[in-house]
Amino acid sequence: MASIFTRIIRGEIPCHKLFEDDLVIAFLDVNPLSPGHALVVPKQETAYLHQLSAESAMALGAALPLVAGAILKITGATAYNVLQNNGALAHQEVPHVHFHIIPKYADGSGLGIMWKPSAIDHPSAAALAALVVHELRG
Ligand code: AMP
Repeated sequence: MASIFTRIIRGEIPCHKLFEDDLVIAFLDVNPLSPGHALVVPKQETAYLHQLSAESAMALGAALPLVAGAILKITGATAYNVLQNNGALAHQEVPHVHFHIIPKYADGSGLGIMWKPSAIDHPSAAALAALVVHELRG
């Protein structure tokens, strides 16, 4: 079944559209955390970021700063977060890749972040990094 974002792309569901090209669409989030909260969505429907084609990923990468810049200019916001969730465990509700652009305002509205850093364990980090490098080299 088509995702809700594919249905928006097809024009079956209305949206407040901000941007569209052959590979990407951007529109306002229907439940915004702050004014200007937008979603930038590849037309290719995959659930996870790592499943996207290089072509879609490049188009997304080009659209993100364009859309973010326009939102800042229009809203007057000077700060924003970009959020991209993958998997239900990571709070992804819609299984179609999307980037949130969320303006942060002086009144505190925008994305709230609970960040619990820990001290890195260098030996295990080095082992993990070596494995990822090996994987990326194929
Ligand atoms: P996520 O938790 O990253 O999957 O976020 C999904 C986002 O999609 C939420 O912020 C929703 O408010 C938003 N959303 C769901 N349906 C629509 C829709 N029809 N139009 C605009 N935004 C939507």
